[in-house]
Order: sequence, then C-alpha cells, then structure tokens
Amino acid sequence: MKILVAVKRVVDHNVKVRVKADESGVELANAKMSVNPFCEIAIEEAVRLKEKGIASEIIAVSIGTSQAAEQIRSALALGADRGILVETDEKAHPLQVAKILKAVAQAEDAKIVLLGKQAIDDDNNQTGQMLAALMGVGQGTFASQVEVEGDAVKVTREIDGGLQTVALPLPAVITTDLRLNEPRFPKLPNIMAAKKKPLENKTPADFGVDMTSKLQTLKVTAPKERSAGVKVASVDELIDKLKNEARVI
Ligand code: AMP
Repeated sequence: MKILVAVKRVVDHNVKVRVKADESGVELANAKMSVNPFCEIAIEEAVRLKEKGIASEIIAVSIGTSQAAEQIRSALALGADRGILVETDEKAHPLQVAKILKAVAQAEDAKIVLLGKQAIDDDNNQTGQMLAALMGVGQGTFASQVEVEGDAVKVTREIDGGLQTVALPLPAVITTDLRLNEPRFPKLPNIMAAKKKPLENKTPADFGVDMTSKLQTLKVTAPKERSAGVKVASVDELIDKLKNEARVI
C-alpha cells in the first residue's frame, strides 16, 4: 500500500516573524524554514506504518518554490522513499494544494494521504478536508491514533472534550494532531542517503491545476504589544486589581 505524505515548507516555529512594512505579509527573507511540525508527525506515522509492514512505499509531496525540495529531502531522511516537488512561484492556497494532491494521489493510487492538521504559517486547517471532499473519500482529521485493519483504517480523533474513533474504508485522508506520535530525529547516514533518493519535478500544469486563487490577502498586521505585567504583594491586592482595574471579576 502506497502512502502519500503532504509536506509543507514553512517558517521555522522558533522564528519570531515580523510583518512587512507594507502589511502584505510576513518577512521571510533570511528566515529559517522547516518542515511544518504537523507534517513531520505525518511523515513519522507513515514511516511507522511501513515499519509495521503495512505500507510498501512512502511518497513525500510538496507544492511550492524550488526551495521546497529541502523539505522533501528532510522527509526522505526521515524515511520517505521518494519525493515529488510540484514547483510554483505562486502562493499555494489550500484549494489549489488539495487539487494537486488529489491528482498525485490518484496517479500514484495511494491508499492513505497523510497531511498535517494545519500549517503553522497560514493556520488554514483546510487542505485535508478539501482533499477528502474532492477525492470523494472519508476523512479522519486531528488524528491521535491510526490503526490500519485490512482495507479500512480506524482513526481516533481529538475533539472538544474527548476522543472520537471513526472507521474509514481505504483510500482515506488523515490529518495529524500533536499527540499522534513523536517524530524521530534523522540520523546522519539517513541524511546522506536521502540525497540519492529519487525526487521528481512537476508543475501544477502537469496536473491540470490553475494556481489562480479565489482568495486575496488584503493585509497582515502584528498582534497588539502586550503591556508589561506587575507583581502584586498579596492575594487581596490581586483581587482588588482584577475587580477595579481589569474589571474581569
Ligand atoms: P493548511 O490547510 O494550509 O493548514 O495545511 C494543512 C496541511 O496540508 C499541511 O500540514 C500539509 O500537510 C498540507 N499542505 C498545505 N499546503 C501544502 C503545500 N504547499 N505543500 C504540501 N502540503 C501542503
């Protein structure tokens, strides 16, 4: 069974991003870029399914500029078998990404498509859901456990106030939540070996996808600066401040 893993190149989670002066987005020049953390969890889950003998091949796909090849190489170092870079200089919005992933999944006859539940740059939390709808297959989103049983998969989902377990016939789309697993660190020999693994270059046009988006970002602004905190001497003073200054109790 082939597993497709969608890997997004995003600004590293440790970088404190700055909004561009013209409010058109955030400053990415010279910012450290990484694999989206939820996509790392997706890669790890695919690798575990391969180690269990369930998956036969793991294909890492990224849609983005030529630099996204770095994140595919990271996925290959973690255990993916080959990569596909769908190269575009256009901003890849969820609907366009979902259309491309659908075309790749069908061309590869992938039985499971694993994605992160969200990309930490745009925080859309849309791509997996759109992909499942476009493919006409079931979706197990916010997965904290994945168990493949024959030609179905049981996904335990993190929902408000508890867990929900759903059963999906394959093919299916799964998006990963934080508690699904703890991704391994790549070993040096695997990083070296990843350089030799196959990486195919494609374009959105190869899959008949027009990258024109129906979404336009009007402006991006930084959150308000938080004012400095104060130390209080006693619980009474804290209660007084909460009542009379913050007026929250
Ligand atoms: P989002 O819906 O944008 O929050 O992204 C959710 C997930 O979709 C990510 O964790 C990735 O697995 C996948 N995804 C989104 N954009 C891309 C992209 N440009 N290339 C590859 N995968 C992507």
